[in-house]
Amino acid sequence: MSALTRDVKIVVIGAGAMGSGIAQVAARAGHTVYLYDGRSEAIAAGRAAIEQDLKFLVAKNRLDGAEATATLERVVPVAALAEAADAGLAIEAIVENLDVKRKLFAELESLLGADAIIASNTSSLSINAMAAGLARPGRLAGLHFFNPAPRMALVEVVSGLTTDPIVAETLLRDGASWGKVPVHAASTPGFIVNRVARPYYAEALRVLAEHEAEPATLDAILREGVRFAMGPFELMDLIGHDVNFAVTKSVFEAYFCDRRFAPSPFQQELVAAGRLGRKSGRGIYEYG
Ligand code: NAD
Repeated sequence: MSALTRDVKIVVIGAGAMGSGIAQVAARAGHTVYLYDGRSEAIAAGRAAIEQDLKFLVAKNRLDGAEATATLERVVPVAALAEAADAGLAIEAIVENLDVKRKLFAELESLLGADAIIASNTSSLSINAMAAGLARPGRLAGLHFFNPAPRMALVEVVSGLTTDPIVAETLLRDGASWGKVPVHAASTPGFIVNRVARPYYAEALRVLAEHEAEPATLDAILREGVRFAMGPFELMDLIGHDVNFAVTKSVFEAYFCDRRFAPSPFQQELVAAGRLGRKSGRGIYEYG
């Protein structure tokens, strides 16, 4: 099975941080991408974010101006999902809530063609639990991009117990043809990256809660000493503490409250205070 041909249309549902980035990646690869969100203002903001990033890439001589224009033209905002009924691939990037996602998948299944693939960008939810309600569970897989999607090469293609191997294969080939580095993972809590990363974030938050080091010091150590692209606090501020905390909670619960994955009470307080990171103007750091 080859990757999806460029004439296959894609619908991205959820035009937030991840959905807009994923739409940009797929449009840059040559697909027409329908962009839908439950909030119309989010669709406009998502498309504006894509435009801004494309302009940035052109200014940095990393993208040709004509290619940027063509990429943006391929991102088609839709006010209703029904307008995207001819999509061959749906990529869901809405709120990390199983019931809400399942409701969306049922709607997608009633709209899309029988062979259309449904992919979820979930960070941690079970692909098996999501697929359970579908008439054709084999068509659903995880397609987990990392933030920011246009820059981060890694993509986890996640198979549940019922995922058709051809679906996973198609997504793996697609990911590669979009310039990404796709890896195949089974549907276990947190998949690979979000499982391995949990104790990393937790330990960094513990260092902070115990006043052992300033966040900037720890970030610099991980950046300069270990060559990570970002330190843990910069990264959590980028991801959003609400998202990061929800993922930790979900992995913790899915592993039957194994202490190794225990969420940080300090991060819980950050979320309660609305200090979500870059998106709210303040997380661990303040943003002008
Ligand atoms: P976000 O809050 O930036 O965007 C989510 C968007 O989905 C919002 O615009 C919201 O209006 C829309 N939405 C919510 N419910 C909807 C519905 N029922 N129908 C249509 N639109 C709906 O969130 P995000 O950070 O982009 O995360 C989206 C998904 O990607 C989540 O599953 C998250 O776990 C996952 N994810 C996030 C990151 C990250 O770093 N933020 C990384 C990888 C994966």
